[in-house]
Amino acid sequence: GVSDFDVVVLGAGAAGLFAAMRAGQRGRRVLLLDHAEEPGKKILISGGGRCNFTNTGCVPDRFISANRHFARSALARFTQHDFIALVRKHGIAFHEKTLGQLFCDGSARQIVQMLLAECEAAGVDLRLRHRVTDVARADRFTIATDHGTFRAESLVLATGGLSIPKMGATGFAHDVARRFGLPIVTPAPGLVPLTFDGSALDLMRPLAGVALPVVARAGRAAFPEAMLFTHRGLSGPAILQASSYWQPGGPMTIDLLPGQDATTLLLSAKRARPKAEPRTILADWLPQRLAQSMAASHLPPRIMGELGDAALKALGALLRSWRLEPAGTEGYAKAEVTLGGIDTAALSSKTMAATAVPGLFVIGEAVDVTGWLGGYNFQWAWSSGWAAGEAA
Ligand code: FAD
Repeated sequence: GVSDFDVVVLGAGAAGLFAAMRAGQRGRRVLLLDHAEEPGKKILISGGGRCNFTNTGCVPDRFISANRHFARSALARFTQHDFIALVRKHGIAFHEKTLGQLFCDGSARQIVQMLLAECEAAGVDLRLRHRVTDVARADRFTIATDHGTFRAESLVLATGGLSIPKMGATGFAHDVARRFGLPIVTPAPGLVPLTFDGSALDLMRPLAGVALPVVARAGRAAFPEAMLFTHRGLSGPAILQASSYWQPGGPMTIDLLPGQDATTLLLSAKRARPKAEPRTILADWLPQRLAQSMAASHLPPRIMGELGDAALKALGALLRSWRLEPAGTEGYAKAEVTLGGIDTAALSSKTMAATAVPGLFVIGEAVDVTGWLGGYNFQWAWSSGWAAGEAA
């Protein structure tokens, strides 16, 4: 038999749980379907198991999209403060780690339990382990699964992006969108470690494990955060952030001594400590292994006093703006999010409804809106989920 609902939400992740909750609160009969055996699996592993559930400084310019104004409306209708109030209502203790990032004191599971409790109170019918085999639309939507067929007036697509296929991420939302004629902005891994080859990798690989504060720049964005050398290239928050702005084949630059003028430092060190080895001087400002490697690869083997000003100026310029050409990224297997997705040009920014397909809504990571690192992606899931839940 066919079961009838007002709203079917596909994907019980952050966005789907929130949309289902809100639609249920409005008295809609809501079915929430997921192919996984557990809801909110990405919430559970997020923020190192503590879930960075929002950011106190959430503003629209921290989101990447072909239409940089698109996220504004949904973010204003359900804000970070609204989500914080919900977390408080459920008595979940939290703290700010850094840069406005809010984490649970206890565990990410508390956020999933909160969302499930809200869904249950709102009468949402949650069914897991359902594989969707077909989605069609006539006067209503028909959703065929391996556990029966469902019909609904509204369909909310919340099956996420392509990141972490090992956890069940699929291109399902993009496939359904294409079927209904919605355009897609080419997806790419975002918030992802960068890989290098050639001499850059030769320099980086022995430094695996070394971390330091930098400013990483790609495109028009600059991120003053920590960087980490890995055996394949670079990672750490500064690099993950810059990766979302990096264009394949393009350059990026790293300031290895943020807030300092490396050239002035080196020239005055030459006068003050002429007998010192350059690596000893550099180790005053940089991690020792990096200092050693920079001196060995960019200076002749001389003491400071014997080095020409030109060589020191060249090294100073390099420390200030180390220009690198990444070979690529570590891909969806390591990407925290998916850039691109369903083109916002096809959606209402107020309701997340597809303007050309009455009753179809798209929310969360499936949409071409990608947040910075730091709780912004969950806030987009809550805000876009709320917008659709209000209208579906
Ligand atoms: P998802 O949460 O991915 O949910 C999609 C749901 O759809 C899943 O339950 C999935 O099982 C289901 N699904 C997929 N395909 C199908 C299908 N074909 N049929 C049925 N169901 C399907 N963001 C932050 O803001 N803060 C953090 O601390 C943070 N940490 C992260 C850590 C890691 C390791 C990763 C990978 C991501 C992290 N993110 C974080 C990003 C954040 O998890 C995502 O942006 C967010 O989960 C997107 O929500 P969503 O509901 O759109 O998609």
